[in-house]
Amino acid sequence: LKFEELGLPKDIIHALYRVNYKAPSHVQATVLPLLMQHDNINLVCQSQTGTGKTAAFVIAMLARVDVTQKCPQALCIAPTRELARQIITYTNDLAAENYSLETAIAVRGPEFLKQKCNAHIIIGTPGTVVSAIQRKVIDTANIKILVLDEADALLEQGDMGTQSLRLKRLVGSNTQVLMFSATFSDRILEFSQHFCPNAAKLTL
Ligand code: AMP
Repeated sequence: LKFEELGLPKDIIHALYRVNYKAPSHVQATVLPLLMQHDNINLVCQSQTGTGKTAAFVIAMLARVDVTQKCPQALCIAPTRELARQIITYTNDLAAENYSLETAIAVRGPEFLKQKCNAHIIIGTPGTVVSAIQRKVIDTANIKILVLDEADALLEQGDMGTQSLRLKRLVGSNTQVLMFSATFSDRILEFSQHFCPNAAKLTL
């Protein structure tokens, strides 16, 4: 299978070749055609690190964003600052040809968001993102897609699960939700019914 067969926008196909990906991974070949055909489908995916899942959801976010609208349109949450930083680096690499795309990180620490954030894609940890929304630093009115990476790691840490569900309520019911987890424990599946309702479940 080729990237051209997944229904992706041309600029994203160029970006994938530019970062030297030759062909889609199994996860990408499964998830991307679904996401390109149905912009309202919610997905819960079981997939390990190393399978190319990050590119799959980063591409989904890039495909949803209209760069001419200067406001947040995609939110991604991760269990750690380090992972949030990796995802943003990845997003910036894939978006490099698209000079007007802006990304921002919402984590505690030196990058902490204080002023209203108009980046198109925001990646952060759940509590910090929720507090930024409550302080009106992030406006959720135009969020089209919400992604949660490494849900299993996230549920093991403090109140991140609770914060994620709070975030889900703050983005409204029309937002598309994608969730990735390395395992599908009962706890993950129960959480996913609240975070990602009516989702198609894929084991990849
Ligand atoms: P991930 O599973 O998202 O942590 O990705 C694992 C590694 O695979 C990362 O270093 C990616 O840059 C790389 N990768 C993702 N998709 C592809 C692809 N289609 N072809 C080659 N490498 C890829």
